[in-house]
Amino acid sequence: MPARSASPALRLPSIDSLLRHPACLPLTERYGRDALLASLRQLLDDLREPVLSSQLDAVEITPEVLAGRAGERLDLQHRSQVRRVFNLTGTVLHTNLGRALLPDEAIDAVQRAARYPLNLEFDLQSGKRGDRDDLIEGLIRELTGAEAVTVVNNNAAAVLLTLNSLGARKEGIISRGELIEIGGAFRIPDIMARAGVKLHEVGTTNRTHARDYEAAIGPRSGLLMRVHASNYAIEGFTARVPTAELAELAHKHGLPLLEDLGSGSLLDLTRWGLPAEPTVRQALIDGADIVTFSGDKLLGGPQAGLIVGRKDLIAKIKKNPLKRALRVDKLTLAALEAVLSLYRNPDQLAERLPSLRLLTRPQADILAQAERLQPSLALALGDGWSVSAVAALGMIGSGSQPVARLPSAALCLRPLVSKRLRGRHLLGLEAAFRQLAIPVLGRIDDDALWLDLRQLDDEAAWRAQLDQLQVPG
Ligand SMILES: *Cc1c(COP(=O)(O)O)cnc(C)c1O
Repeated sequence: MPARSASPALRLPSIDSLLRHPACLPLTERYGRDALLASLRQLLDDLREPVLSSQLDAVEITPEVLAGRAGERLDLQHRSQVRRVFNLTGTVLHTNLGRALLPDEAIDAVQRAARYPLNLEFDLQSGKRGDRDDLIEGLIRELTGAEAVTVVNNNAAAVLLTLNSLGARKEGIISRGELIEIGGAFRIPDIMARAGVKLHEVGTTNRTHARDYEAAIGPRSGLLMRVHASNYAIEGFTARVPTAELAELAHKHGLPLLEDLGSGSLLDLTRWGLPAEPTVRQALIDGADIVTFSGDKLLGGPQAGLIVGRKDLIAKIKKNPLKRALRVDKLTLAALEAVLSLYRNPDQLAERLPSLRLLTRPQADILAQAERLQPSLALALGDGWSVSAVAALGMIGSGSQPVARLPSAALCLRPLVSKRLRGRHLLGLEAAFRQLAIPVLGRIDDDALWLDLRQLDDEAAWRAQLDQLQVPG
């Protein structure tokens, strides 16, 4: 029988000696003794088999090596699940990637609101309890022309709360062309039902006339609703009643007109060469009694739902107990105020508001960047791929102008393999980009992986991780 000390597995360092080893001390400090202990046990378990079968020489497994590996495992386990990514999809306001990026002014405001007590619901003038909506009401009124304002968690909440406050147990009249679904589970008919409003659909998918609304109005009617089609467009033989005419009709019968603008821009975007989006101010001028829109779409701010319009209706909405359940937090309010403040100076807006700066970035500028990055990427990918800097078309995203395309530029990566293998190579490379320390997200289309560079601000960080890319094949 061989001596116990002859067992190679026993030549691995003991847990106790490892925990006391200087190489492990920084790990104890960072992750705590228990986490380190669990990690070392797991490591030694994993190593016992290869050492016993002589695939590994125990002599090479020093405490320093073990500490290094345990450190790597712990780093990975403790890595934040909320990860920064590079959005090179070509969609600027990407709902799955967090939509608008905040300007420095808003980030500073969030930090202050997080760090210190603030007058969230405290009126500094009177010394009495205040209303959090008051903090931004003045600004929003100034920027939209609305009489009154209230803010909730997102636009879906804004629509739900408005419908429930103004139309519960009554009928909501809406065109069949506007019964839309916006990503996930937000469908107008379902939201109406949950809000307690009975859906009364009128007209057809492509054409709805004033007489259709008129015929639907009766004693059970509670409101007329208009919804921005957002993520689809109806083209061809179409008819839609202009908001001004719809408002007149609603008011003739004493009903409010609710308009859900979705993105809802505060300014006319055509001044920056972008496709026209309806503005909140115009919807109110046209006669909409309540307008709802998102804070983190074209507005370029934090996630929020803004409800603006007639004072008596806003008062009713604010009294709804659901308002409390849907209200915004102090960080959002702080960010929203800072973003709205930037709108006071439209001439500077495209420089100061990241979403607008990215949306208006000239194609020539993006193409020059693609050409600049092409050689290093071609080198990183090697012989199996063709890499070219080409013009491409991106989009605004978040339901703004679904058909309009933004002239952009991309790095187009094509696998130089037989047609049969192309799909596998593309998916492999797409996954490899996703595994990087800062995952790079592009889009696969037409047998190529496209990296649209409109949103590549931090070129240095992007280049720095290229040598980590595990090119498949
Ligand atoms: C995006 C959108 C919503 C939902 O807004 P969120 O801010 O995502 O909650 C509602 N209505 C329309 C028309 C939209 O485009």
